[in-house]
Amino acid sequence: MIASKLPNVGTTIFTTMSQLAAETGAINLSQGFPDFDGPLALREAVARHVLGGHNQYAPMTGLPALREQVATKVRTLYGRSVDADREVTITPGATQAIFCAIQALIRPGDEVIVFDPCYDSYEPSVQLAGGVCVHQQLSLPSFAIDWQRLADAITPRTRMIVLNTPHNPSGALLERSDLDRLAELIRERDIYLLSDEVYEHLVFDGREHASVLRHDELYQRAVVISSFGKTYHVTGWKTGYVVAPPALSAELRKVHQYVSFTGVTPLQWALAEFMAAHPEHLSELPGFYQAKRDLFCDLLAGSRFSFTRAAGTYFQLVDYSTIRPDLNDVAMAEWLTREHGVASIPISVFYQQAPQDLRLIRFCFAKREETLRQAAERLCAI
Ligand code: PMP
Ligand code: GLN
Repeated sequence: MIASKLPNVGTTIFTTMSQLAAETGAINLSQGFPDFDGPLALREAVARHVLGGHNQYAPMTGLPALREQVATKVRTLYGRSVDADREVTITPGATQAIFCAIQALIRPGDEVIVFDPCYDSYEPSVQLAGGVCVHQQLSLPSFAIDWQRLADAITPRTRMIVLNTPHNPSGALLERSDLDRLAELIRERDIYLLSDEVYEHLVFDGREHASVLRHDELYQRAVVISSFGKTYHVTGWKTGYVVAPPALSAELRKVHQYVSFTGVTPLQWALAEFMAAHPEHLSELPGFYQAKRDLFCDLLAGSRFSFTRAAGTYFQLVDYSTIRPDLNDVAMAEWLTREHGVASIPISVFYQQAPQDLRLIRFCFAKREETLRQAAERLCAI
């Protein structure tokens, strides 16, 4: 028997539900990925760069042209001037960036505060670094931070707080005032922030993404992470980036250079080229996904599910308590897949200890109109 370093880790819910959807032929609204392709010009650019000989290692920190594009975006959107050489690192996916940041900053015995429901990759990364996650539940139904409980959870061992806005799986957003409050709370303390902002462009109803990049005080102690996979509809490319002050970037890079050394070269060339040629892609994204959210929600209005429209991300939570109050969310997700042909994600799996009466499941609406219509038709028939 191997003494596992991660005894509690099994197959992720994303793999489990996508597999069940494939086995049963259900419409897959579980794992978060689009069922349409990224922009043609972007995909053509990859082919061109592969054929044109951009197939050897990119620099360890990422292709300079792509780091420059990220710096330009950060300046344009969040008003922060960052040094592309010292503060921007391209990584093979946001997941790898999260892992590297945690390995670089967390030591054995350190505590990391995460907010439940929380994305599944944070805790194993903390455990491998020898740290301990301290789970704080977001307050239902709005998935807001309970500031008093957060203040009570901070100890001399707290080394990091992980934020995720827009939030997966709830779709909730932090406000600028939340960041101010957090800054006040940790001002005198030696605490880093990991800000997972992979859904930074998926913010709806005219609201603004409260990026830590916009916050002078918090940025000084932050590692901000995003994913080209979400932004350009290419989750399978596994390409992301980190923006952090020079000293933090330097530490993260020490880990990154031995986890993977660098990211995939032709993808970086294509992304740099596309970002330069199509800056409008970013400003069009909120409208693009808001239309999908609204289509899906308008169609579901005729169902027995209840919900509040997601403020951000491409996920919609729904309450099924009037349909099958007898089922917990894991059983509900399975029942819905097998009996009604629509796969979803139960959210209790993102909790250390989920509330007993939780009756919420998550649907991904990053899908073509026909997929959303077909799924909604099945859901309305229940
Ligand atoms: N953070 C969150 C909150 C996510 O939902 C995801 C999922 N895609 C990631 C990080 C990982 O992104 P990537 O696919 O670029 O590794
Ligand atoms: N982030 C995606 C989601 O929340 C899944 C990523 C994965 O499969 N690991 O659905």
